[in-house]
Amino acid sequence: MKKEKYLEQIRNIGIIAHIDAGKTTLSERILFYTQKIHRMGEVHEGTATMDYLPQEQERGITIVSACTTLEWKKKIINLIDTPGHVDFTIEVERALRVLDGVVAVFCGVGGVEPQSETVWHQSETYNIPKIAFINKMDRLGANFDFVLESMRDKLNANYVVIQAPWGSGEEFKGVFDVLQQKKVVFNVQDQGRSFEYLELNSEEKEYVDRYRNDLLEKLADLDDSIMIKYVEGEDIELAEIKNALRKFTLKGKVVPVLAGSALKNIGIQPVLDAIVDFLPSPLDVPQLEGIDPKTKEKKSFPISAKAPLSALVFKVSMETGRKLVLTRLYSGELKPGQNIYNVTQKKQERVARIFRLHANHKEKLERAKAGEIVALAGLKLARTGDTLALAEEPILLEKIGEYKPVISIA
Ligand code: GDP
Repeated sequence: MKKEKYLEQIRNIGIIAHIDAGKTTLSERILFYTQKIHRMGEVHEGTATMDYLPQEQERGITIVSACTTLEWKKKIINLIDTPGHVDFTIEVERALRVLDGVVAVFCGVGGVEPQSETVWHQSETYNIPKIAFINKMDRLGANFDFVLESMRDKLNANYVVIQAPWGSGEEFKGVFDVLQQKKVVFNVQDQGRSFEYLELNSEEKEYVDRYRNDLLEKLADLDDSIMIKYVEGEDIELAEIKNALRKFTLKGKVVPVLAGSALKNIGIQPVLDAIVDFLPSPLDVPQLEGIDPKTKEKKSFPISAKAPLSALVFKVSMETGRKLVLTRLYSGELKPGQNIYNVTQKKQERVARIFRLHANHKEKLERAKAGEIVALAGLKLARTGDTLALAEEPILLEKIGEYKPVISIA
């Protein structure tokens, strides 16, 4: 079956973090830069857009896996919110099953803390490609190299720095773009929306080269062509480095790392760029497998809108007073008014409406396709973990929460 182009445009991404590392702030800034919300709520006032349950707002922590769709550089990013609190590991697990890539947020002062370790290892179980954002570089005591070391020691992560901090604490001014060997200064008056690239002086070049050489060495270890050029001292083109970075990030061999401060609006757009450049589309990960409910034999459909429907419910949300069933489609397509077969419950029911959820509004869709994450209205029976398919072509996707590695990249 021919690959469908639209699939390359999709990024189903989750942000994982230890509580307080700044996941909510980063999510908000991301929404702000993609212009889906125009006024930022402050987290401590309980008005952050991703946390929309009143209960959550009171407690000031993120406990549900909401999904928000945004657009960046012509790519559709579905941002799936994963809870950071250790009590909600099963919810994290569920969210991890439907996302293809992860942004891990670490605090520039605290580094890798126990809860991030847990979630990181969960994501490793599913071989989910990751990038890391080292946040709070503006805080007193922030130490980028310390966080890198803790990533290596506690997570066994083969990090490669693509943006290093330019100063830290009160002196935090921007980031060094390690790939382009430039420094980037974000315009604070403009809430970081505009920025400038500046040339490096010799001292800065030495500092940036340290990260760049480490990155090239790590890529050379994995890639023969880069190895030869690196050893011979030849120039390696940016495009070749970026291609290798994408390839080895998707294989889980390296983790690109960026520095910034969500609170100060420094380094947010580079995170969006890295999501688009280095994290997978649904086509880059193996299809989720299931079984034939009758024969119990393994079964899966191609990642294509033309294949029979297979979809997984990963969250049931009641926050608008109406039941919305958050669903990831793995194959096939869905239209409003269509009858679907709930394979888990062995019952048929009708999808009334289909929505794409944005930060502050719902967009009605005429159809949903493989690879997409949508909210379905009208399904009275559907529960978290259920498989939706067609009665003629049933498939039971693996139950979520079972903790079985199903995604593997050769
Ligand atoms: P979450 O629990 O991971 O969602 O973390 P929040 O986004 O709620 O942030 C926790 C606290 O850290 C809040 O008081 C934020 O204002 C603050 N914070 C978030 N990002 C930064 C940052 O880049 N620098 C500083 N100094 N504080 C931050």
